[in-house]
Amino acid sequence: MKRVDVAILGAGPAGLFAAEGFLGSGLETILVDRGQEPSRRSHISFGVGGAGAFSDGKLNLIPQIGGDPESIGRSGAEVQPYIDRVDATFTRFGAPEQYSGEDKDALAELHKNAGRYGIEFISGRQRHIGTASLRQVIDRFYQHLLGEGTRTSLENRVQRIERKGDRFLLEGEEPIEARYVIAAPGRAGAYWLREEAARLGISTEYGPIDVGARVEFPAELYAPIERAMYDAKLRVRTATYDDLVRTFCTNPRGFVVKESYEEFCLVNGHAENVEKTENTNFALLSHIELTDPVEDTTEYGRAIAKLATTIGGGRPIIQRLKDLKQGRRSTAERLARVTITPTLTDATPGDISMALPNRVVVNLLEALEQLDNIMPGLTSDNTFLYAPEIKFYDTHYPVSQSMETEIPRFYVAGDASGHCRGIVYSALTGLIAAEAIRRSEGV
Ligand SMILES: Cc1cc2nc3c(=O)[nH]c(=O)nc-3n(C[C@H](O)[C@H](O)[C@H](O)COP(=O)(O)OP(=O)(O)OC[C@H]3O[C@@H](n4cnc5c(N)ncnc54)[C@H](O)[C@@H]3O)c2cc1C
Repeated sequence: MKRVDVAILGAGPAGLFAAEGFLGSGLETILVDRGQEPSRRSHISFGVGGAGAFSDGKLNLIPQIGGDPESIGRSGAEVQPYIDRVDATFTRFGAPEQYSGEDKDALAELHKNAGRYGIEFISGRQRHIGTASLRQVIDRFYQHLLGEGTRTSLENRVQRIERKGDRFLLEGEEPIEARYVIAAPGRAGAYWLREEAARLGISTEYGPIDVGARVEFPAELYAPIERAMYDAKLRVRTATYDDLVRTFCTNPRGFVVKESYEEFCLVNGHAENVEKTENTNFALLSHIELTDPVEDTTEYGRAIAKLATTIGGGRPIIQRLKDLKQGRRSTAERLARVTITPTLTDATPGDISMALPNRVVVNLLEALEQLDNIMPGLTSDNTFLYAPEIKFYDTHYPVSQSMETEIPRFYVAGDASGHCRGIVYSALTGLIAAEAIRRSEGV
């Protein structure tokens, strides 16, 4: 049994930045993760660097993207210095110097063009690290933490969290006892954490969920937008349901990837620094809020994910947009008629309308028609859809401004907290939690 002052559960961006926040404090801190260190890991979601390590590191550097400061009782201006600090750390360990989203003329042009078709364009400063470089940046950051005395407990999957007097016991391969816990197990650990929280008496609230598909199309179609912003955030209101649909995580010349979970699989995307494809992809997500009597968005999302995975025979579904519009499934033969090659081959040709709720499918089709106005050709015969893409940040923990839950000394951070959806916000919530613990310890 290891006894420490602070156990940080999860070594993704939230956990790593929390660990950084404790450097020099004198508090004994341990970083616990079920996965391996950066140089050894192969799992997309588990291990040092978290899900972030296998992303291509698009750092969104404004408070309006990736989270909502108000949900943690803060203003955008209060959050900005943390964003700058996270950015400085990434740069210190090797992120490229240049930003995207600073060409005023290109931005103005895109704003004008998008506005003409009722599309909202949210612009802001971004830094793009790229998948291969991000792993090196994370490895350097991790080595720095080790060098400064951060302890680790890797390949240690925490199964249960117990309260033991004024301490917490993390039960896993290597049990750990700590006075403070920062729980940051990411989206992959959010469902597990929610069960643990319920047992510990920590209440949670249901938040919205985003359900949709990954859209893959010839890279030339996005090139004019990329000049303004690498990962442009575009939002539309759909004609039939007046629902919000948004683009998310655009990967110019990137890859679509499969995210495997115990009970289902999802799709995602990233872009490599060196290896480029002929395709660009983005997530197209329909925003869903459930109200009385069905509020449990997590279970709703999981049900969709399981259904889609069943229909895909244990793999994501790929479909030509043309087939979806014409109400028929895709087959390998129909996919082969497209001029681009799908970048995710571990997917089953099928029918997305059998897997996603009809309202989501209608929303996706209408949103694509609208986006085609600023990306002409998007709804042509050369576009693929992969499903399901679901963003689980729907279990919200009511927290203080410091990310402390209603149980004193138990903090949540990152995507699992329900207050973030991205690397930078996850990192800053880890920093905020560490800063608060240092304050209460007077160190
Ligand atoms: C393919 C892909 C591309 C992405 N691209 C981007 C992007 O470009 N920009 C962006 O901002 N975001 C991107 N994201 C999202 C981003 O990676 C996440 O928002 C971010 O990593 C969340 O950080 P986190 O620290 O909260 O959790 P995570 O990064 O998910 O880390 C959680 C850690 O907790 C560990 N863990 C979980 N449960 C347990 C347990 N029971 N015991 C021990 N350890 C546990 C896991 O092993 C994991 O290492 C992408 C995600 C993916 C999958």
